[in-house]
Amino acid sequence: MPTNPQSATILHALFGGTFDPIHYGHLRPVEALAAEVGLNQVTLLPNHVPPHRPQPEANAQQRLKMVELAIANNPLFAVDDRELHRTAPSYTIETLENVRKERGPTLPLAFIIGQDSLLTLHKWHRWQALLDICHLLVLARPGYNDQMDTPELQQWLERHRVTDAALLSQRPQGHIYLADTPLLEISATEIRQRRHQGISCDDLLPRSVQRYIELQGLYR
Ligand code: ATP
Repeated sequence: MPTNPQSATILHALFGGTFDPIHYGHLRPVEALAAEVGLNQVTLLPNHVPPHRPQPEANAQQRLKMVELAIANNPLFAVDDRELHRTAPSYTIETLENVRKERGPTLPLAFIIGQDSLLTLHKWHRWQALLDICHLLVLARPGYNDQMDTPELQQWLERHRVTDAALLSQRPQGHIYLADTPLLEISATEIRQRRHQGISCDDLLPRSVQRYIELQGLYR
C-alpha cells in the first residue's frame, strides 16, 4: 500500500466526442497521455448531437457499439453513455457537473480535448466554468498549435496552464495541461470520406470497428 497519500490519488479523465467513428487518432494519443500524466482510467463519453446540428452518419447506438468494440480488452478505457440516453441535448459542462457530483468534490478529475477543440473552446456553453469542475488535458493534433484566435482565450490559457503534470493530481480541478502526445493525422471525416470513395481505412481504426462498419453498411 502506498504510504504517501498523493501517490494514492487517482486521476480520472473523461473524453467526449462524436466518435463517428472512433479511430486511432482518439485512442493512441489518449493512451500516450495516460502514460505521460498518470491516468488510470479514461471514460469515453459519446455525445448526443442536437437535432439542429449536422447529424452523425452513424446513429447513437452504432456510435456507442463502435466505442465498445474499440475499447474491449483495454482496461484503461470505459464508456459512459449517459448523454445518448437524454432526450434533450446536454452541454458538456452539465455532464461534467453531474459526474463531479457523483464522484465528490476532492477527486482529481480531468476532461480531455484535442488541440482543435481548444482553439474554439470559447464557443462552448459556460466554457470558463469547466475549470471549476475539472482539469483540461489537451492532446496535440497535427496542424494546430497553442496560438488562440481570441485574446480572451489565450489569456485564460496562460493563466491556468501548468507544465508539470504532477500538479494535476494535487488538486481536484483548475489546471490546463498541453500534452506532448504523438501526432496522428487521422480524423473521422477522413475515414467517412475514404469509405464513401471505397478506399481502405486499414491502420486508421481497430479491426473490430472496421468489421462492424462493414456489417452495418456504414459510411457507404
Ligand atoms: P470529425 O472529423 O467528424 O470532426 P474527429 O475525428 O475530430 O471527428 P471527434 O469525435 O469529433 O473526432 O473528436 C473528439 C475529440 O477528439 C475532439 O476533442 C478532437 O479534438 C479529438 N481528436 C480527434 N481526432 C484527433 C487526433 N487525430 N488527434 C488528437 N485529437 C483528436
